[in-house]
Amino acid sequence: MPELPEVETVCRGLAPHLEGRVLTRVVQRRPDLRFPFPPKFCERLTGRRVSAVRRRAKYILMHLDDGTVLLAHLGMSGRMVISPAPAPEPATHDHVIFETDEGTVVTFNDARRFGMMDLTEEGALAEHPMLRSLGPEPLGNDFSGPVLAERLAGRMSPIKAALLDQTVVAGLGNIYVAEALFHAGLSPTRMAATVTGAKAERLARCIRDVLARAIEAGGSTLRDHRQASGELGYFQHQFSVYDREGEPCPGCTCNLAKTGGIQRIVQSGRSTFYCSHRQR
Ligand SMILES: [Zn+2]
Repeated sequence: MPELPEVETVCRGLAPHLEGRVLTRVVQRRPDLRFPFPPKFCERLTGRRVSAVRRRAKYILMHLDDGTVLLAHLGMSGRMVISPAPAPEPATHDHVIFETDEGTVVTFNDARRFGMMDLTEEGALAEHPMLRSLGPEPLGNDFSGPVLAERLAGRMSPIKAALLDQTVVAGLGNIYVAEALFHAGLSPTRMAATVTGAKAERLARCIRDVLARAIEAGGSTLRDHRQASGELGYFQHQFSVYDREGEPCPGCTCNLAKTGGIQRIVQSGRSTFYCSHRQR
């Protein structure tokens, strides 16, 4: 499932091919993804120039020259594939095809169809049902220790669950919450409201750091592999605790027998990986 760094990587990969380009052809190959496409989807996009490709949480925002914004979410399995025109024969799960005046084809492929696309207006973007309740952007200027502490205040749920709540911080998923809590030395089971002051400061910094490092790794993947496959968004990344149950903790100097290594627990039906020795 693409997390924020993957979506950011997709946006950065799309930008040089789409920004400033006119969409000369848009093909929609089915009536819906997770939700129906908006009416006249292709007509409203065709002939428009793309002014910018941006990201908000895990949404790709394609801004067009007439003030329309295409909002896209990759869902569980969505990906964007870039290829030169003419568009190749569509594969089974190719649902939307964009072609630019520069002769680039961007294909949205989504086998499980949990992705979505919608059209809105620039001025109504912040109030879009998918965006209006989102918390601050973790890599944005509005995110800090005090902001995080304020959003966690009074919350009796475990900090892990609170960070997955998109109204607290936007765009965080299971992997990067585990990583950020590890680096901040905070137990995922700790009550959210107890993360205040210096702890909140440290956690906010670690959230930004793990995301920034992953985006950097995504950037190198783009440089290395874009030409080869044309596929954007997925990359191998070394995690400190995520999916490493039983392995030695990279943060502990004492031996595995004493600490038990990285543990896995299940919280709200999802796996959490952490070091009970280091994270309190
Ligand atoms: Zn440890």
